[in-house]
Amino acid sequence: MDNANGKEISRRDLLKGAALLAATAMVRPARAQAKASKAVMKYQDHPNGDAQCSGCLQFEPGKTPTAMGTCKVVEGPISPKGWCIAYVKKP
Ligand code: SF4
Repeated sequence: MDNANGKEISRRDLLKGAALLAATAMVRPARAQAKASKAVMKYQDHPNGDAQCSGCLQFEPGKTPTAMGTCKVVEGPISPKGWCIAYVKKP
């Protein structure tokens, strides 16, 4: 069997590819669900200087600017005025 580049693909290559695909499919959901605890990330419900969650790349806002939101990396409700060690300023 040939691939798009005209190179021969062995049965072993196909099996390796299938195994990699299966492994990737198993790892992805686990990664998507894993968030760190507030304690581990040293989350606080007040800003650190002028750095706060509402200005962080990881923050997902609530329904209003002052409502609790969520974070892509820290579990639980997150205050827009909070902060943690994973803070990354929005560009
Ligand atoms: S990473 Fe930290 S600072 Fe950024 S939104 Fe999440 S909890 Fe707030």
